[in-house]
This record gives sequence, C-alpha cells and structure tokens, in this order.
Amino acid sequence: MTQTPILMTAPMHPSVAQALEPRFTLHRLWEQDDQSAFLQAIGPQIRGIATSTLYGRVDHQLLDHLPALDIIASFGVGYDNVDVGLAVERGITVTNTPGVLDDEVADFTLGLLLATLRQIPQAERHLREGRWLNGAFPLSPTLRGRKIGIVGLGNIGKAVARRLEGFGVSIAYHGRRTQPDMPYPFYPDLTELARACDVLIVIVPGGDATRHLINRQVLQALGPTGVLINVARGSVVDEQALIAALQAGEILTAGLDVFEQEPQVPQALLDMPQLVLLPHIGSASHHTRQAMGQLVADNLITWFNHGHAITPVPECCR
Ligand code: NDP
Repeated sequence: MTQTPILMTAPMHPSVAQALEPRFTLHRLWEQDDQSAFLQAIGPQIRGIATSTLYGRVDHQLLDHLPALDIIASFGVGYDNVDVGLAVERGITVTNTPGVLDDEVADFTLGLLLATLRQIPQAERHLREGRWLNGAFPLSPTLRGRKIGIVGLGNIGKAVARRLEGFGVSIAYHGRRTQPDMPYPFYPDLTELARACDVLIVIVPGGDATRHLINRQVLQALGPTGVLINVARGSVVDEQALIAALQAGEILTAGLDVFEQEPQVPQALLDMPQLVLLPHIGSASHHTRQAMGQLVADNLITWFNHGHAITPVPECCR
C-alpha cells in the first residue's frame, strides 16, 4: 500500500522524522539538487507539509506546486513563516505548537532579563579573561524597584508574568484588548505603557500586524533607565530605531533573542558590550524541542488518521 506523501521543507528536530517515517513517505526538500524539478514531479502528490518557523517561507511560490495539500504542520508557536491567509483561502489547515513551550520560553525570558540587568555574561567574560585579578567587575543595574510592561499577555506572556510575581516587581501589559481576568493594569496605548514602565518584555506574534510595534517613540517613552527585552520576533522591533535609541542613551540597554535579518546581527548591536544578544534560543532545549517535534508529527498523524488537527492556528478555526 502506498503511504501518504509528506514534504519536509527544512531540517527539523529528529523527533519529527522519527514519528513520521513509519507512517508516511517523507520527501526532504532541502536535500534535492534541483528543487524546482523535484516540486514539478512530486508536488502534485504532496498531502502534508512539515515546516519550521526558523527556515524559509511557505507562500504561494511553494503552495502553487502543491494542489493536493491538506495540511501545513509548522514547528514553533509563531507561524509568520506561513502565508496563512492563502492557506485558509485554499482550504489548507495550518497547525503550530502552542502550549508545549510556554514554560521553557518564560524561564528563558527571566534568564535573559536578569542576565541583561545584572550583566551576567559580561561578568563571566571578566572572570574568564583574567580581568578579575586586576579588579572587581563594575556594579550593574538592577531588577529591584522596576515596573515591567509585558507587550503581549498571551500564553507565554502570562507564564512570564507568573514568574515575575515571585520577583516582587510590579507588572502591567499591552495588547489589542483588555483581559478582565488578569490582575495587572492594561494599557491600550503602547507608548503610555512604555512611559509607565522601565522594562518592556516583548512577546507578541510576528507578521505585518506587529511590524515595528516597538519604534523610536516607544523607546523614548521607556526612557534612559529603560530596558528592552525582545523574545518575540525581530520584525516587532524597528532595529535601526533601537540602535539609534541605544546610541543616544534614550534607553539603557537591551536583551535580544531575535533579530530582523537572522542570523545576521547588525554590527552596531555587536559593538555595544552592555547588550545581551542570543541566537534565537528561547525554546531551544532538548526537552522542549522534542515536545514541539512530537506535536508537529501528531498533528499530521491525527489529521490523516482521524480527519482533524490537534492544534490548528486560530485563523483556521473561524
Ligand atoms: P499567544 O497567541 O498566546 O499570545 C500573543 C499575545 O500577543 C496575545 O496576548 C495578544 O493579545 C498579543 N497580540 C497579538 N497581536 C497583537 C498586536 N497586533 N498588538 C498588540 N498585541 C498583540 O502567543 P504565545 O504567547 O504562545 O507566543 C507569542 C510569540 O512569541 C509567538 O508568536 C512567537 O513569535 C514568539 N516566540 C518566540 C520564541 C523564541 O524562541 N524567542 C519561542 C516561542 C514563541 P491580544 O489578542 O489581546 O492583542
């Protein structure tokens, strides 16, 4: 019996292929010498895609080759790599991997916040480079007494807020709507939130709706003691405005896990030693990547065995 053909668009955590291989015929797009010829030949048979938010786009250029496609299973909770509008128009279901990474990314966000404020990576470099022998590491800024603004109080934002409560800091948030069951003050105007806080933690989805949400005006409102933590997507922060604000001392510092042109990081950011810059690793533990991979596979398996997906994105549920 022939097995349902699935296209993997990019290398992913091994758990995806391990779970899919016994049940489907897997085609690995990135291994093809001539991807265009491959898509011409095999594209019409493909029923499902396994893709990753970290690699390439699933847009009309790919989808036009796949007329029999039912489902796109994306690895990651953000799915700004997939043209969801087009998928919905064509009756294709899109799934992501929510829930299984919330705690991991929230733990990481607190780590990045503390590392940025207390200058932990810089202090470690001070020790390793033998500079401690010549003098103590300089005093750092602090989390004490700060007010934290969470931009995007969703699944991960709430997990961050729960952790912050344990740190005894005050919390407020911005989103498109108030959440009456949340105990924190809501700011419908992002600039007002920035003015009221001295840390912004950004954890909204990427895509056109949030592009450059964090602009020069927001950063100026955050002020000269202000700290920006971005664990969302690079596109959410106007990187040139951030560089200008940092260079002008309009904000104090930043901790960034994501960048506009990954894996390229602007030299101007690399040149500022007070920043903490990380290579998009918010969910990147063995434990959590395994769980994300399993959920990608389970969405495809459940779709083809039972006719429904486990975690369709909201646009596919309307
Ligand atoms: P959720 O969908 O649960 O939450 C998103 C939040 O963003 C909601 O509270 C929503 O509130 C708010 N939001 C959405 N659009 C806007 C907008 N235009 N303006 C203001 N607020 C908005 O998502 P998750 O918490 O699960 O994940 C959030 C994002 O984090 C992901 O999409 C992904 O891009 C990023 N991420 C990054 C990781 C990393 O490795 N650094 C790892 C995992 C996720 P409301 O509807 O009220 O506006």
